[in-house]
Amino acid sequence: METSEKTKNSAWSFDGGHIALNFANTTDWHASAQPEELLNSYSDLVNWSQDFDILNEQHGETLLREAAKYPQKAAAALNNAQDLREAIYRIFAAISTQKEPAKEDLDHLKHSYAQAAAAINITPDQHGFTLNWIPEAPAFEQMLWPISHAALDLLLSSDLAKVGQCADDRGCGALFIDTSRNHSRSWCSMEICGNRAKAQRHYQRNK
Ligand SMILES: [Zn+2]
Repeated sequence: METSEKTKNSAWSFDGGHIALNFANTTDWHASAQPEELLNSYSDLVNWSQDFDILNEQHGETLLREAAKYPQKAAAALNNAQDLREAIYRIFAAISTQKEPAKEDLDHLKHSYAQAAAAINITPDQHGFTLNWIPEAPAFEQMLWPISHAALDLLLSSDLAKVGQCADDRGCGALFIDTSRNHSRSWCSMEICGNRAKAQRHYQRNK
């Protein structure tokens, strides 16, 4: 198989600047009445995790082989991934509008993080120690460990105040870290939602 050239899958939404938010963005039109699922199979979940460097090529291939052998377990893992994603989405969407996240969503993240913490490896390297989540045997949900760790990390970090959500009125709902100086960013991206809003204002003005 040709693996020498790594390509970002353009099917995923834009880069929100944080892995937990990118995971939350694996539903398109998240704030609309008809959200669009981007993780439609376990292999979508594996591909996404590879594209965002949570799984390396080799671990991804191993998981896909295991998934072919145990499709029900893989399907259950996909369900759990989607549930975790929705909890993460609701937590940060609430925070982006200065609302308090629901306790059940925070509990969901806590339980997921507890599994991640149990699976962590602390390994010495040249500079000290690093954390990784490389299991001895492949685990269907192993990509969720770094994700829940990252989500909790964001929740506790000073970047939390920079979490924003696309203001698109069709319900784009994409989450991002707003690095603009006055926290004035409105859109996931100018190309995707910003231009449309601009065109709409232009249209209203000229009507
Ligand atoms: Zn948008």
